[in-house]
Amino acid sequence: MNYQVDENGFYGEFGGAYIPEILYKCVDELKNAYRPIVESEEFQKEFRQLLRDYAGRPSPLYYAQRMSRKYGCRLFLKREDCNHTGAHKINNAIGQILLARRMGKTRVIAETGAGQHGVATATVCALMGMQCEIFMGKTDVERQHTNVERMRMLGATVHPVTTGNMTLSDACSAAIRDWCCHPSDTYYLVGSTMGPHPYPDLVARLQSVISEEIKSQLQEQAGRDYPDYLVACIGGGSNAAGTIYHYMDDERVKIVLAEAGGHGVDSGYTAATIHRGRTGILHGSKMLVMQTPDGQIEEAFSLSAGLDYPGVGPMHCNMAAKGRTKVLAINDDEAIYAGYELTRLEGIIPAIESAHAMAALGKMSFRPEDIVVLTVSGRGDKDVETYLKNKEYAKEYGQF
Ligand SMILES: *Cc1c(COP(=O)(O)O)cnc(C)c1O
Repeated sequence: MNYQVDENGFYGEFGGAYIPEILYKCVDELKNAYRPIVESEEFQKEFRQLLRDYAGRPSPLYYAQRMSRKYGCRLFLKREDCNHTGAHKINNAIGQILLARRMGKTRVIAETGAGQHGVATATVCALMGMQCEIFMGKTDVERQHTNVERMRMLGATVHPVTTGNMTLSDACSAAIRDWCCHPSDTYYLVGSTMGPHPYPDLVARLQSVISEEIKSQLQEQAGRDYPDYLVACIGGGSNAAGTIYHYMDDERVKIVLAEAGGHGVDSGYTAATIHRGRTGILHGSKMLVMQTPDGQIEEAFSLSAGLDYPGVGPMHCNMAAKGRTKVLAINDDEAIYAGYELTRLEGIIPAIESAHAMAALGKMSFRPEDIVVLTVSGRGDKDVETYLKNKEYAKEYGQF
């Protein structure tokens, strides 16, 4: 089985580039430029150096002893929360800003949900002295306020988007509209494995540093370079793609992904796209999309702003359809509980997105010798208010 993108930009039936005519030229330009640039020695040297000296890589692989005891396995946490700016998003942002510079672009735009991608983009734009415009739904501007202040401090202009339910999906649409107005000087720095080809492949390649490190760290710590299980949360799919990239074709490794159930997959308030979606086109790509019977995009709902999206990247649509990955829907209350549990058992406050991955452990069964690697995609500093507001979901830990 080969789960990589084909020469036409598809993963099975998913993917492709469904874009307005005005963007043909710049998407084509990107498609022709990205592989020669990203694969060049000179790019790789600068990318690796910044990952190490600026982002703080390699991120630790941490053997979580108390959590291991609780779940009856050998649990290792891949600590993307330790990266500069607090999540895995910085890996992709560094890679794409180096690409944008080599393509001669001067103005950078990006969409953001939780604000982590906005902060990562604003950060690398400050680093490179580039103009930066961030599109963010007004609902998210309010619930992720400290990230908005960080972006502004870094010199970015934040545009609150007031269409739709004013979350990530609307921010993507606004960014694409802006791109249509400035196709020649502007680089659209997409934050996840979504959007028109080549973005899903580009982002997956840049994030693949995560599984590259897991391989050597596991070899050193556990004596073999593959786990029995990989676990990650999935919004657009970039931290999941990075976590599984070098194991996709290794059938010894089972892959479990956690998407956001919101109030429950059948509640009408959910972001569980792989459970609920049907094939459709959103933001330039054919993928599973939550939609009404007549094809209107449905609003997504999740406490977690980073997973609050009605679509999911085409690579993951294909892998789920082929049965390579098992996708669990984790509800808000389960994620909050799991976030408190990691905090109290290991002293790590995870992003609410990452807490969805933690909650998946409770729905799996292990043999004691099983090696499980779970990616903690980001830190929970941005979510402390949400955790406290919802502490009734974690009564065991939330009495204070
Ligand atoms: C953005 C984000 C996610 C979701 O995005 P993916 O592309 O699916 O990884 C998950 N966790 C954190 C911490 C994020 O910032």
